[in-house]
Amino acid sequence: MHADLVVLNGKIFTASSDRPWAGAFAVWNNRFLEVGEDADVRSLIGPKTEVIDAGGKTVLPGFIDSHCHMASVGSEHALQVDCSSVKRKTIPQIVAALKEAAGKTPEGSWIIGHSYDETRLEEKRHPTKSELDAASTKHPILLKSFTYHFGVVNSAALKLAKIDKNTEAPSGGIFEKDSQGELTGLCLEEAFFLWVPGFSKGDSLIPPYSEEEKAKGLALICREFNRLGITGIGDASSDFHTLRACQNTDQRGELTVRINMMIHENNFERLKACRIMTGFGNERYKIGSIKTFADGACAGRTAWLTTPYGEDPDYRGIPVKTPEEMEKAVAAYHEAGFQISVHANGDAAITMVLDAYEKALKQHPRKDHRHRIEHCTFVTEKILARMKKLGVAAAPFANYVITQGDKLDVYGDWISMMFAHKSFLERGIPIGGSTDFPVVTANPLVSIQSMVTRKSVDGRVLGAGQKLTVEEAVTVYTRGSAWLSFDEKIKGTIEAGKLADFVILEQDPFTSPAEEIGSIEVAGTFLGGRPVYQRS
Ligand SMILES: [Zn+2]
Repeated sequence: MHADLVVLNGKIFTASSDRPWAGAFAVWNNRFLEVGEDADVRSLIGPKTEVIDAGGKTVLPGFIDSHCHMASVGSEHALQVDCSSVKRKTIPQIVAALKEAAGKTPEGSWIIGHSYDETRLEEKRHPTKSELDAASTKHPILLKSFTYHFGVVNSAALKLAKIDKNTEAPSGGIFEKDSQGELTGLCLEEAFFLWVPGFSKGDSLIPPYSEEEKAKGLALICREFNRLGITGIGDASSDFHTLRACQNTDQRGELTVRINMMIHENNFERLKACRIMTGFGNERYKIGSIKTFADGACAGRTAWLTTPYGEDPDYRGIPVKTPEEMEKAVAAYHEAGFQISVHANGDAAITMVLDAYEKALKQHPRKDHRHRIEHCTFVTEKILARMKKLGVAAAPFANYVITQGDKLDVYGDWISMMFAHKSFLERGIPIGGSTDFPVVTANPLVSIQSMVTRKSVDGRVLGAGQKLTVEEAVTVYTRGSAWLSFDEKIKGTIEAGKLADFVILEQDPFTSPAEEIGSIEVAGTFLGGRPVYQRS
């Protein structure tokens, strides 16, 4: 028997506990056939075998971002106006970009801007309805925050949706008003989700993209992720449109990232009616957990805490479900056989989720449920002990410290127990690597640098006790993420029998200065032994 591909002379970190390091491997029929040293695989080289001499470069399992929004959201950003702080520094710059897009769009059609960050704008505030009106009064406009927990609309959008100052916001949401009681255009949480396809209950105020557009966007974003060394993701806001986009893109051979769809709870009844549950699909795309929400975001100061936020003693963040609603939702998804992923940042929100998990598991015990808490940002010893006991996993932010650490002072001493990677590992709580892209960059090497250094953009070390070694951080981002989606038997390590998803790096993260890991370049990314990215 001869291999399809053999990689020799590599510094291979396999992320497997049996054999963490190797020098060579062979691939046959999409899978690793043999992993060892050069001498072990040379006999598998035949006349048709492709041989790659890694030249001593580092080879890792393909990275898996266990919680991001690549398929559902990233695929759409290609079709929208980029208003991120990298591109636009001021509100007039955002308005100008939206105006330019309006100039190329038929009147009455939506203009959508994405990823603005009010804290990084020169004005240090949200744009307003009237400012967006300067971009267009003939097009409805939605400008989405990078957090995806709030956004600003213009007057045309409000008019189209028949929303005025007397309209009651949906529960768990806010239409912000100024001191005169007029709408500012800022919509928070449920009042923001109303507009957004895939996030709204029922039909969104903005129509979803066509299947053709979605598939085109998905192929583009897959290539972007391959360039970063990513071969798998968990998409944390999938719906039936995402499923179809995956199928369309896959049929064209352009789905080059394996996708675990975490299905937004709004689609639960339809899935249940089809008798479909967690695990349905194939090695390239499948139905994962049901995704629901407990609270808001750290950046938006809407994470629900037991302690008050600095300036206001009564404000502790925003829960988006009552404990009763959470219990009911969790019980329904659990009984239907699904894995569950609940977005919960604050310790009060996490506790509410654990209460619901505990109750559901007591009523309907299930081994190996792998229920998850997404982000699971603010933890306590008590929370950690309960997670361990209940068998609950977490997908904590891997790069929050490096990308947004300068905004965390409001949380004071909490920092030592935020994104608590080391605490989770020490207690044997399963975790995966996750960025929440497009909230922040999806670059796994930036995430690994962040987990290893805990150093923020402004050079401060935040919560030094949570630092991981490079080996630990890489393992979290590969084997850890695979476990979170029940894929540990086929993904996450370089071992015989597993899918041959791997990445070759230009520099060695194990010996590079930790501060430079994030700048390491990917030399090549392989999916099932096939190159999906090669640096030219
Ligand atoms: Zn998310």
